[in-house]
Amino acid sequence: MLHLQISDARKLIIETGLALAERKLILGSWGNISMKIEKDCFAITPSGRSYDQLKPDDIVIVNAEGVKMAGIRTPSTELKMHMALYKAHPEFNVIVHTHSTYACAVASMRKTIPPFIEDMIQVIGGPIRCAEYAIAGTEELAQNAVVAIGNNNAALLANHGAVCCGKNMRETLNVASIVEKSAQIFCITEQMGGAINIDAKTAKILRAFYKEHYSKRQAGEEL
Ligand SMILES: [Zn+2]
Repeated sequence: MLHLQISDARKLIIETGLALAERKLILGSWGNISMKIEKDCFAITPSGRSYDQLKPDDIVIVNAEGVKMAGIRTPSTELKMHMALYKAHPEFNVIVHTHSTYACAVASMRKTIPPFIEDMIQVIGGPIRCAEYAIAGTEELAQNAVVAIGNNNAALLANHGAVCCGKNMRETLNVASIVEKSAQIFCITEQMGGAINIDAKTAKILRAFYKEHYSKRQAGEEL
């Protein structure tokens, strides 16, 4: 369980929104960010507000069912997807939904990005699958995203964008950057005859090293 205060979570979400905008992973008011404060308390960006205008009070507080507990704004239209992913994955503490250009390009082709780059396998867990199409904001999209993520940390949303999850803000920002980079490499390699994928046995070793050591070193839990 996280012991973040609501005010800390609100500030962290705003900082992350600005970082995502700076990396061009979100644009204007599109995309959204949420964070688990504790088991039945989550913070999420509001619907239709630009990240450069967000104030701490704009960040909405909801319970595990997505019911608003505090805040003046309407929560993000993708609230259902965030809550469905938290329910399916108790290990996720942060979820970022992006509309980055290359992820959207591959999502528009409704293709899966195969496991061809080491950092993608380590941080995301394997292929970046594309969820079946459903209209934004619907329960159907939420369930399709849960299926596409499986045991990984990210998925594409057909004709829409990407959803990226992690155990903390730093890891989730990293997931979002690697999704976009992998999508860009996919677009390049597809034009050059296609990448050679990393085999399943090697992928398992790479993922295990990241989970058991590298992610802990990044979090300062291992020297
Ligand atoms: Zn969206």
